[in-house]
Amino acid sequence: MWSTRIGAMQVQRVEEMLTPGFLPSFLFPDYDPAVLVEHPELAAPEFFHAATGRLMSSMQTWLLRTGDQVVIVDTGCGNDKIRTNEAFSRFHQLQLPYLERLAACGVRPEDVTMVINTHLHVDHVGWNTRLSDGKWVPTFPNARYLFGRHELEHWRDPEGGPRLHPWGIPVIIDSVDPVIEAGLVDLIDDGDTILPGVSVRAVPGHTAGQLAICLASEGASGIFTADVFHQPMQIARPDWNSCFCEVPTAAINTRKRLLADAADTGAVLFPSHTGAPHAGRVARAGAGFRFLPLDLER
Ligand SMILES: [Zn+2]
Repeated sequence: MWSTRIGAMQVQRVEEMLTPGFLPSFLFPDYDPAVLVEHPELAAPEFFHAATGRLMSSMQTWLLRTGDQVVIVDTGCGNDKIRTNEAFSRFHQLQLPYLERLAACGVRPEDVTMVINTHLHVDHVGWNTRLSDGKWVPTFPNARYLFGRHELEHWRDPEGGPRLHPWGIPVIIDSVDPVIEAGLVDLIDDGDTILPGVSVRAVPGHTAGQLAICLASEGASGIFTADVFHQPMQIARPDWNSCFCEVPTAAINTRKRLLADAADTGAVLFPSHTGAPHAGRVARAGAGFRFLPLDLER
């Protein structure tokens, strides 16, 4: 089982799926295959599926235990969701044993005390809800769901998320609105401390209101980095945005700043979609950085 510690806090990874995902030339408009020559470790099968030329893509949630809190950071794609956009066919009407995998970590849906959505994209909010008698209902009925205030406003503004990414509209309807209607949502902002040692950092760019979640415990630190980068290729090439980044200049600035901070502090980075071992530290290397995959507890 995937598990590590940040001081007194435990972080586990609960997999939804791990498959070849996008072609790098699609995901990164500035893609240059020379990156694989310069950083041969990025061509390892954990990150690059040579048979199809696609990037390995993890869909997962992070399970954080701190004190008596059971926290889920991002909720993957979800089961039964209708996703007709061609780019997201991988997420269409899934039937995956995610809740069974959560149970294998000793967590039932009713045990979860907090859900944090770093941003409101299709692959980060899916298990917020599940289908019950034809209706979308909160999967975690006893949890408070935390959304970024700015991110939610961005999706409430017809000229914001809905105009930039119309494919996100059904996602808001089936995975965001039902938990708001159930009265389970609290809004969070940059700089908030949401639990002892757990704080919020604005990381705008991929979405206008994207948030990272920072951990500090017993001198150790970690960051749930949302989609500041999707792939370790962007650690080597921090000026490469994904084709889904909404505010390109901000996305690059945010990525460079977060990677520089992590290189300086030794924080463990917990990204959303990186191949095994799915987390690691970074070190400076030339104009960019180098990914240092994490050694896991076994
Ligand atoms: Zn994502």
